[in-house]
Amino acid sequence: MSGDIIVMGGGIIGLSCALELRRRGLHVTLLEKGPCGGQASGAAAGMLAPYSENIESPDEFFRLCRESLSLYPQWQQAVKDISGVSFEYAETGSLYVARHEADLLALESRLEWQRSWGSGGEILTGSALFDAEPGLTREAVAALRTPVESHVYAPDLTEAVKRACLASGVQIQEHLGRIELAEWRERVALRAQNSERFEADRLLISTGAWVQEMSEPLGIRIPVHPIRGQICAYTWNEEREPLRHLVFTSQGYLVQKANGTLVCGASEDIAGFDTSVTDKGIRRLTEWNKQVLPVLGEVQPFHRWAGLRPAVLDGRPLIGRLNNAGHIFVAAGHYRNGILLSPVTAALIADSVEGKPLPEWCGAFRPNRFGEVQAGAFSGK
Ligand SMILES: Cc1cc2nc3c(=O)[nH]c(=O)nc-3n(C[C@H](O)[C@H](O)[C@H](O)COP(=O)(O)OP(=O)(O)OC[C@H]3O[C@@H](n4cnc5c(N)ncnc54)[C@H](O)[C@@H]3O)c2cc1C
Repeated sequence: MSGDIIVMGGGIIGLSCALELRRRGLHVTLLEKGPCGGQASGAAAGMLAPYSENIESPDEFFRLCRESLSLYPQWQQAVKDISGVSFEYAETGSLYVARHEADLLALESRLEWQRSWGSGGEILTGSALFDAEPGLTREAVAALRTPVESHVYAPDLTEAVKRACLASGVQIQEHLGRIELAEWRERVALRAQNSERFEADRLLISTGAWVQEMSEPLGIRIPVHPIRGQICAYTWNEEREPLRHLVFTSQGYLVQKANGTLVCGASEDIAGFDTSVTDKGIRRLTEWNKQVLPVLGEVQPFHRWAGLRPAVLDGRPLIGRLNNAGHIFVAAGHYRNGILLSPVTAALIADSVEGKPLPEWCGAFRPNRFGEVQAGAFSGK
């Protein structure tokens, strides 16, 4: 593949796509208005949990998540090899915990369909449950154990993908301030706040929760909105029993990190682009945490933060080429699962840029699926 491409946005999605495009031979320039990884990607808990995140049915989104999980072992190793940077990747498995008898039926029906999709799941009760996770509340009646789920340390992963991009020859420009689309109908030109101009044959838009800003210039509806996630971490000294699995309930999750912290998330708030942390948001987490892991009643989180998940109206990310501009591609709207979905998104975008048809089921992620808007005053030249 030859030619050049600009990637707009340096979160995990833009960086992963930039790396894959470079590996396939393109000249890639990545433009980021702030620091790479400074938004949702640096805030994420790093769970790679397609089964725990998709509890209803095996739709196209579940399929995408599962496909990405299967790419992870090789992909994360390639990122480590290319970047020379190490980061935590832990194949711990997960427990989805039920605290009421009535919830057991729901776990059983999930177990049935998820096993046929390779979860390797089983339901644990009684002593088997507490042997598997000794710190769990004795009020837990059962848990669905999914051994194939895992997690990464997301800020370190994001930094490693950036380093891998640089080592591979991706040009990265950060801290550019506001970047606007100046031309797009044939070639692409972008203008940064300091008036610097960048040109390329092709463009990939991967600006996370900000992707809707491209709606008017491109004349397509992009219904993506920020959903704030507040999250916190406890220090975890060696005297306490470490958590062995990712632990989910219907109210949230807990994940033990190798750096001696226990990360607990996360709220889902509508607060526009505000990333502040509120006492109310964190209190809801701490109150819930101690009901799942009673030892957390004795301690307070030492760190609290928040990030903006890019949520699409129909819950599915936007991945692929624009119908109305074949040289423009979108990879955005990964909501709660952008860390998990990085490898599959990068592979699909690179295939798309190479002109390969995407599998039919990936039609569910077409970026044009919400139709057009009036282009307004913008001419696109
Ligand atoms: C609290 C929390 C916990 C999460 N936990 C998990 C998890 O456990 N597992 C998981 O898979 N996912 C998780 N997620 C979701 C995941 O973080 C996101 O889906 C993912 O980070 C989205 O990546 P992105 O690159 O699209 O967006 P971002 O990381 O937000 O990156 C977008 C980038 O684009 C830049 N940008 C915006 N506009 C422009 C412009 N005009 N020009 C140039 N650059 C621009 C921004 O500055 C930003 O750096 C979590 C999210 C949150 C908030």
